[in-house]
Amino acid sequence: MAEFDKVIVPESGQRITIVDGKLNVPNNPIIPFIRGDGIGIDLWPATQLVLDGAVEKAYGGERKIAWMKIYAGDEAVEHYGDMQYLPEDTTNAIEEFIVAIKGPLTTPVGGGIRSLNVSLRQILNLYACVRPVRWFEGVPSPSVHPEWMDIVIFRENTEDVYSGIEWEQGSEEVKKVIDFIQNTMGKKVRLDSGIGVKPISITGTKQLIRKALDFAVAEGRKSVTFMHKGNIMKFTEGAFKDWGYELAVEEYREHIITEAELWDETMAEDGVTPITKPGAYADLRGGKPAGDPNGRIIVKDRIADSIFQQIQTRTNEYDVVCCPNLNGDYLSDAAAAMVGGLGMAAGANIGDHVGLFEATHGTAPKYAGKDKVNPGSLILSGVMMLNHMGWREAGSMVEKAIEKTIADKVVTYDLHRQMEGATKVSCSGYAEAIVGNMK
Ligand code: NAP
Repeated sequence: MAEFDKVIVPESGQRITIVDGKLNVPNNPIIPFIRGDGIGIDLWPATQLVLDGAVEKAYGGERKIAWMKIYAGDEAVEHYGDMQYLPEDTTNAIEEFIVAIKGPLTTPVGGGIRSLNVSLRQILNLYACVRPVRWFEGVPSPSVHPEWMDIVIFRENTEDVYSGIEWEQGSEEVKKVIDFIQNTMGKKVRLDSGIGVKPISITGTKQLIRKALDFAVAEGRKSVTFMHKGNIMKFTEGAFKDWGYELAVEEYREHIITEAELWDETMAEDGVTPITKPGAYADLRGGKPAGDPNGRIIVKDRIADSIFQQIQTRTNEYDVVCCPNLNGDYLSDAAAAMVGGLGMAAGANIGDHVGLFEATHGTAPKYAGKDKVNPGSLILSGVMMLNHMGWREAGSMVEKAIEKTIADKVVTYDLHRQMEGATKVSCSGYAEAIVGNMK
């Protein structure tokens, strides 16, 4: 067990452990939390109020989270000193206590410091960024059918252009790289270029897609789509797709059918005319497509640019979506925008065992300390955390209470400005309304 410098481990709680590869959660688990910078100061107390309220109500006081404060960002500098944005205490605590939650963190500007979020993901090998996107009835949306949106995005979290391998235009390093590309590899690059590297590995891809397929199997999801730009970047994004199919067929054969196989199965003997079976995959009318008539998960792929228009026009054809890092970043925000924006989008960074749950938006510094912003994103990330711990009764209680609060048109400023006849409440007021709606 790690020795902590400034973290106080609560005496009232017990550690979550891993037994036979699965989480073993005691009734009073110690869960580290990072309050977060900027609006974190408003979001965290609201979130804690809602999560504690749900656990108390769902289990009649038998279960209780022992929260353990850990530090990152500006708060860490206050406690640990100059430039200590991400102390070792913090990464050690997350690793040791396995499940943790965080508010948004400022990316320090200058001084060669990388994004704290990216650092946390890479240091802890939290290779899957999981972002469920669904619509809550009553939330204003630019989409015609926001109710068709119920996707879970699995974004690769540790490589791609986020690996931080890049050289500034004009530097000595970039000259060497360009020289290598031109003279050793025989490719052309403009001499006044900056250069970035985009590594995508079998390891990074398969560990992500395994997580997504495990999730799809466990949750009874209908399809898993690989999003890629493999028509242009054959050996990175194209390979991502190929390795995805390879893994799906090798390790999940009994659970999946590829789209191409399904088309073959549903093709008439002439090999040209598709047979439309009742309830078959091709039926797109209303709600989710029925999926494979034999109940298998359909594995398919889509080119990145086409999926951006398809999630808008054929929303109900998408369920679980796997993406390389940069594509996933774009797609998750675009999908969130269709169902009410970032204030409602939950997220988690997951590794083999460790899970770090987080709000998907940033620190919105202009609103910090004003008790104004929507705590929905962090609260819904907390719901993911409760579900991940197997405390689904509490998770579902929060979700239902949010549904009721929004249906009552009690909302924070961001939704209020888009809704007719709604009541505007503060960040803390919204949390109290959610707790009041728990049954
Ligand atoms: P941002 O903090 O996400 O804020 C952009 C806008 O989004 C806000 O002005 C606000 O829109 C809206 N918004 C964000 N959170 C909201 C909430 N909880 N409720 C309602 N509306 C919300 O993005 P940014 O200003 O580009 O970034 C600020 C800092 O955050 C940067 O240092 C960035 O690096 C960091 N960041 C951190 C994370 C993370 O920790 N995961 C993620 C992204 C960015 P309106 O102005 O329209 O009201």
